[in-house]
Amino acid sequence: MADLDHFLMAGVMGYPVMHSRSPMLHNYWLDQHGLVGRYMPLAVAPDGIERALRALAPLGFAGCNLTMPHKETAVPFMDRISPLVRRIGAMNCVVVAEDGSLEGHNFEAFGYAESIVQAVPGWQADAGPIVVFGAGGAARAVVAGLAERGAKEIRVLNRTRARAEALATDLGHPATVVDWTERHDALSDATLVVNATNQGMHGAPPLDLKLDRLPPEAIVSDLIYAPKETPFLAAARTRGNRTVNGLGMLLNQARPAFEAWFSVMPDITPELRAKIEATI
Ligand code: NAP
Repeated sequence: MADLDHFLMAGVMGYPVMHSRSPMLHNYWLDQHGLVGRYMPLAVAPDGIERALRALAPLGFAGCNLTMPHKETAVPFMDRISPLVRRIGAMNCVVVAEDGSLEGHNFEAFGYAESIVQAVPGWQADAGPIVVFGAGGAARAVVAGLAERGAKEIRVLNRTRARAEALATDLGHPATVVDWTERHDALSDATLVVNATNQGMHGAPPLDLKLDRLPPEAIVSDLIYAPKETPFLAAARTRGNRTVNGLGMLLNQARPAFEAWFSVMPDITPELRAKIEATI
């Protein structure tokens, strides 16, 4: 029975924010579970993030997601952060506790690993070497998530080597740095390859990578979901590799956030996936 005195609220703070698919996702689940409430896009400029976060509790929000440019800058305004946020240095979800205090979480790590499990049932993170391209916030979440699942070796390659080194220093074992100039050869015994750069997005050039040395049984994934298939994924699929785009990560990072706010762990139904895909 719905509590008529309590309209459930959550949202996503970003700048810009209207491109976000999160409102469609969370509002689908609110309706599916008969919960009375709404999830809103919240355009919050960088200089307004602290005041916006402080307003969540008095307004009665259960919490919010954070997208660009707030994932790192919001961390100091949390009362508590999860161990994963401490390791990654970035968060994508705020949960308002009963006493109004703010907890910072990073569910992108879960979202990425879960997307691979769902696409390739039986996949194990410790199956062999993993190669990650990129060293931004998303790459940090991916590496932390794979490490939590038991990965034994994660090679991190980034155009700007210093950023890969900072990632490996902050996250520690099993991340190791391989120079960007070695990127084609780094694939030789890979079991999983991840593009966590922005190369291949609509409007950006493709990831500059030769797949000649990639084993045919390696899983190839891209965090990008617009376009649905980047040139990198298309090249891998043409060679016979199994490919996974970034949509599963987007959908799966939302599930534990919804659960933390509204106490229901939602499922990704085929209807929901199709609804989101239709917007891409
Ligand atoms: P970011 O912090 O801005 O990092 C961008 C990365 O791309 C850096 O590693 C950067 O390398 C690299 N890069 C940029 N231009 C490059 C070039 N010309 N050649 C090679 N590398 C280049 O961004 P982010 O937040 O980590 O996001 C990275 C990607 O993940 C984006 O495409 C984003 O859309 C996607 N993402 C997807 C999800 C999802 O749910 N599916 C969630 C988060 C992010 P340098 O350090 O050398 O600049």
